[in-house]
Amino acid sequence: MLNKPVSGAASNETCQALSRRLEAETEGEVLFDDGARGRYATDASIYQVMPVGVFVPRTSRDVATAIDIARDLKVPIVPRGAGTSQCGQTVGAGLVIDNSKYRRAILDVDVENRTARVEPGLVLDHLNAALKKHGLWHPVDVSTSAQATLGGMAGNNSCGSRSIAYGNMVHNMLGATAWLSDGSEVKFGPVDRLGGLGTGIADFVRGLAVQNRDEIEANWPKVLRRVAGYNLDIFDNQNERPYTQDGSVNLAHLLVGSEGTLAFTKDLTLKLVPLPSNKVLGVVNFTSFHTAMDSAQHIVKLGPSAVELVDRIMIELALSNPAFRPTMETALIGKPEAILLVEFSGEDKPVLVQKLKDLVALMGDLGLPGSVVEMEADAPQKNLWEVRKAGLNIMMSLKGDGKPVSFIEDCAVPLVHLAEYTAALTDVFARHGTHGTWYAHASVGTLHVRPILDMRRGGAANMRSIAEEASALVRQYKGAFSGEHGDGLCRGEWIQWQFGPRINEAFRAIKSYMDPIGLFSPNRIIDPPRMDDGNLFRTPPPDSGKPYTVQPLTTVLDWSDWDVQNDPITEQTSAPGSGGDPAHGFAKAAEICNNNGHCRKFDAGTMCPSYRVTRDERHVTRGRANTLRLALSGQLGEGALTSQAMHDTLDLCVSCKGCRRECPTGVDMAKMKVEFLAHYKQARGFSLKDRLVAHLPDYADTLSHIPRWANLRDRVPLIRWFSEKLVGLSARRALPRWRSDTFWAAHDQSLFSSREAAIAAAPKAAALFVDTFNATFESENAHAAARVLKKAGYTIYLVEKDRGHHCCGRTFLAAGMVDKAKDKLSALLADVLPLAEAGVAIVGLEPSCLLTLRDEALCMGFGDRAKTVSTQALLLEEFLAREAKAGRFSLPLKSAPAPILLHGHCHQKAFGAVAPILEVLRLIPGASPELIETSCCGMAGSFGYDADHYDVSMQMAELSLLPAVRKNPDAILVADGTSCRHQIAHGAGARARHVAVLLDELS
Ligand SMILES: Cc1cc2nc3c(=O)[nH]c(=O)nc-3n(C[C@H](O)[C@H](O)[C@H](O)COP(=O)(O)OP(=O)(O)OC[C@H]3O[C@@H](n4cnc5c(N)ncnc54)[C@H](O)[C@@H]3O)c2cc1C
Ligand code: SF4
Ligand code: SF4
Repeated sequence: MLNKPVSGAASNETCQALSRRLEAETEGEVLFDDGARGRYATDASIYQVMPVGVFVPRTSRDVATAIDIARDLKVPIVPRGAGTSQCGQTVGAGLVIDNSKYRRAILDVDVENRTARVEPGLVLDHLNAALKKHGLWHPVDVSTSAQATLGGMAGNNSCGSRSIAYGNMVHNMLGATAWLSDGSEVKFGPVDRLGGLGTGIADFVRGLAVQNRDEIEANWPKVLRRVAGYNLDIFDNQNERPYTQDGSVNLAHLLVGSEGTLAFTKDLTLKLVPLPSNKVLGVVNFTSFHTAMDSAQHIVKLGPSAVELVDRIMIELALSNPAFRPTMETALIGKPEAILLVEFSGEDKPVLVQKLKDLVALMGDLGLPGSVVEMEADAPQKNLWEVRKAGLNIMMSLKGDGKPVSFIEDCAVPLVHLAEYTAALTDVFARHGTHGTWYAHASVGTLHVRPILDMRRGGAANMRSIAEEASALVRQYKGAFSGEHGDGLCRGEWIQWQFGPRINEAFRAIKSYMDPIGLFSPNRIIDPPRMDDGNLFRTPPPDSGKPYTVQPLTTVLDWSDWDVQNDPITEQTSAPGSGGDPAHGFAKAAEICNNNGHCRKFDAGTMCPSYRVTRDERHVTRGRANTLRLALSGQLGEGALTSQAMHDTLDLCVSCKGCRRECPTGVDMAKMKVEFLAHYKQARGFSLKDRLVAHLPDYADTLSHIPRWANLRDRVPLIRWFSEKLVGLSARRALPRWRSDTFWAAHDQSLFSSREAAIAAAPKAAALFVDTFNATFESENAHAAARVLKKAGYTIYLVEKDRGHHCCGRTFLAAGMVDKAKDKLSALLADVLPLAEAGVAIVGLEPSCLLTLRDEALCMGFGDRAKTVSTQALLLEEFLAREAKAGRFSLPLKSAPAPILLHGHCHQKAFGAVAPILEVLRLIPGASPELIETSCCGMAGSFGYDADHYDVSMQMAELSLLPAVRKNPDAILVADGTSCRHQIAHGAGARARHVAVLLDELS
């Protein structure tokens, strides 16, 4: 028997043997270093258990071999997809096998019979994208659809917002092939078509079902959303919705929700349904939360495809965010305490519109006339669904050690009791000094709620007490304690409570029959640990064996905004710097990642370019944040923060700041990388390349006087080669071209006025900040910007230092020279502060340079000076868009000779500066600029010039930017980032221009 305690570990010799054999006998990636194990020690739960090692199989043969090796060496296996489980299903002291990187093929799509066979690592959205052309989809629409794998969804019996219409994963699985722990490969499917081992399993489980029929009848929750335990009821269906359409039994349904404890899935056969061609949405506004909950039972009788709750707190959160406010306002009538999003979908629009009318009539009958906002068009519906998701994200970004904790977040109760249940649980929270925000699946009685608890201080005791009181309520209302997210570590011990000892023994018998040696995820579902065992927490409390302790660290940046505590009732945070973090907030900034895995997405947005090309847990924001957290808390050993392994973990982070904007909890890895680099370089010294890149602003002027010599590197192949060998600059790249006609050498002095004149002319004035790159290599951009501003009647002050450029410090920050960056920024701030104080905008051209004033400058100890300047620091396009809105910018423009295609610089995207550039481009008569949906272009400052980064850089560019450029050879390409323009020229041989140049040409 293998059933080791979950926190136990295999001996060193076993680990070495395991790693050695996996290396020798498979083609997969074998990751046994501390960092990799640490990155796979957590999922989106509060738990952390170090695995023995991690295996990333390339083929199904790799998996089969790994199972054999693990069995030989008696090491448990923990199957894993995206690791977004909320209850600790994917953490365990065994060999974690990650299917998500390579095992993600669509093996077969049968359009006629509406089925698809897939590998378990395939992401739901990727499957649905491929099915779109057939008008089909797999309809278990989990919120994590952009990263959740189908193997993981099956493992957890996942459920989507539209489960009332389509059912849960169990209702949508048709078959599977899986390995048992003895290595045998078994087909799971309709019982009448099974053979061999499959028939044996079916007979055994049927026997158990028959033996326990009375217990099943008596104790099994009779709701749609029950995902706990094993699906013993496939032989005696207790679910509101039959598992199969014809009432037959499908043995694959036994694997669904088994959380990787029975067998390792090789492939899955899924049910597909037609994509609904039409949707309408009715937003019902309630002046009382109780009424909203009470109404759900009546609304579902109209046959909606979704009924989703958004409570007052979430509404407020959305209203407080300028990006979401306008959308949220479209849904509101007055000041509701809750809204229900009621969706009807189908083929026939008039039928759906009639359903909307029925909803309005129903609400009138229920005493709520005029409470429904009707949305028939697609765009407002889509926007509102986005806001519903974003509200959750804002909630999860609470700073401080108290966090919304998942453990009773998905109890399901029959709709008739929903109002009483939510009221009673709210009282429970209040009695325990906390509160929770309610949202999600009102249609099926599964409302998400997470009380705020501090798991480092007393949270465990509160968690147990709340769980006990919640479970009593669930029993009273005949609900399911786990209605969506599964058992894992936090609800495993409630299985026996839910089903009773006899059914629990039947579950044990299933486990023993299918996995007699306890190879797969032992101590889950059967013999689980206590939910409040502090030793299993990510942040073990003081009374645990190894309390979570952060190592003291003096930081170079100011992280005090993260170093706070919060009030679990009001969610108010304490003053910056008062949180008690020995790393002055840096550790708390890393800890804020709750592992939800959103950074593993591939859809719109920037985050995370290095993951998009590597699909490697180390090269995703989550992996980086976890590694930093583990290092800062001493869990990776002495000196881990400045180790080569940490360097390698952060190396492919291109500092695009995508996560700063798109990570739901606000992880800001670009800033963390600056902090890391400062410590790393201090410990290990700067390389020649670091110095060359960082000091470019210092020597740019000198080299521009000898351009022929300076450009020799690009012209002479041998020097190129040397520059790669000696410095590390890729020989495959041309460097920016040196030229003598820099902006400073050639600018038209008559365009500029004195500082006093600019201040006097405010707001019709601008201070033009010309950065090193635009001044030295592409001076036409700076000339154009000056001319455009002048033509539009602005008084321009030129920000300059010794008749040359000021520097924002960006190149120094990128190299980890934070002190030097501070010196540069200090000088720049001193120069522009009086202008900013007088309301003169500081206008820049290079997104990464100008936006330093709105980002890093604020955490370098400059205090109010930096704050004042940041409020006036604007990119040219932001300034022009603002001025146009204020009616101050008018510049007659000719129409553009070709369609305009825009590529946004990552920092433009991170700071919401893409909308303004589109607004400015729309000032061009007849122009309808099109934004290329891109992540990072791959250059990211000096990143793409690095010989070691060249291939990754090009892969990033080839994801979408370069193909889009090639597809539109006649378009006018606009790209405001210097490095983006270089990448476009290098990769597609096309010319992209700064918006200033285009406006100048057309004016
Ligand atoms: C913000 C957020 C929102 C969420 N929203 C929803 C939601 O709307 N609905 C919902 O149901 N869930 C939701 N979840 C939970 C989670 O995202 C889903 O359960 C998801 O389907 C898990 O997919 P995964 O690839 O991350 O699986 P993982 O977490 O990696 O694994 C899930 C389980 O499957 C097992 N497993 C994985 N691969 C295999 C295999 N090949 N063989 C056998 N077992 C395997 C694992 O061992 C584990 O027990 C949410 C989670 C978060 C963080
Ligand atoms: S980095 Fe952000 S998006 Fe990624 S897992 Fe952590 S919290 Fe989620
Ligand atoms: S800054 Fe960009 S590359 Fe780095 S972790 Fe964030 S999203 Fe990924």
